[in-house]
Amino acid sequence: MDTSRVNPINNDNTEIHDIISCKICFEFLTPPVSQCLYGHITCNDCLSKLTEKKCPVCRRDMSKTLPNLILDSILSSFQVKCKFQDCHEIIKIPNLKTHYKVCEFNYEIPCPLSILGFSVFDPQCTHVYDARTMKRHLKDIHNLNVLPFDGTIDWGKIRTREEKVLTKVFNDNNMLFVAVLSCFDSNSELAIIPIICSKTINVKVLIKEGSNFMKIRRKVEGLRSPLNSAILRLSSSDIVTFCNGKRLSFSVSFS
Ligand SMILES: [Zn+2]
Ligand SMILES: [Zn+2]
Ligand SMILES: [Zn+2]
Ligand SMILES: [Zn+2]
Repeated sequence: MDTSRVNPINNDNTEIHDIISCKICFEFLTPPVSQCLYGHITCNDCLSKLTEKKCPVCRRDMSKTLPNLILDSILSSFQVKCKFQDCHEIIKIPNLKTHYKVCEFNYEIPCPLSILGFSVFDPQCTHVYDARTMKRHLKDIHNLNVLPFDGTIDWGKIRTREEKVLTKVFNDNNMLFVAVLSCFDSNSELAIIPIICSKTINVKVLIKEGSNFMKIRRKVEGLRSPLNSAILRLSSSDIVTFCNGKRLSFSVSFS
């Protein structure tokens, strides 16, 4: 097919995008594709990276798949505009992901749970998305709903000897962020990870055990700074005086 005569698909057309997107990477399907025995389609490449070969749509086994040669050649002939708003490049679908890796307007970030390195998020998530798609990823893959943020996260009382990782996603006007509190034996760790952060925010953490309390203040920079420096992470050494298998209470507020 003479691809120069095919008009590029508008990458903002969510209807078309939803129909021919992969339900693992949420991008346009990259040929060659794999089809489950019930007709659902993913990028072959995305499927090969899953440790558990299950169809992301019907959840049935996908260790055996079918090719879809017609779809492969249709996808190979289409061009789309780069999904990053400020980039005006028109790219053939098979080259799209390669372009995203080098696109200077790429504001993608790794899944915030992957940078924590807790083994509880196993298999460790290696996905990378733009902030908009990250919301869907957190819901679909990690089963985390986005909650409205009213200024305070109250984790309540946590007994540190019980192994626990509590994870919540919050949204307010300036910020979409993930808060993770982990308590393993005598180690406690609190992480605030901004996904979208349009201004610098001061975070106040209050840790209490009985009548003892400790206040910690940190600054969380906007997302344009490297992601790692944008994390508020309190480790055991910050919290250690309170960790003797007692019940701690944590609350986090922003200003
Ligand atoms: Zn894919
Ligand atoms: Zn399926
Ligand atoms: Zn681009
Ligand atoms: Zn993830």
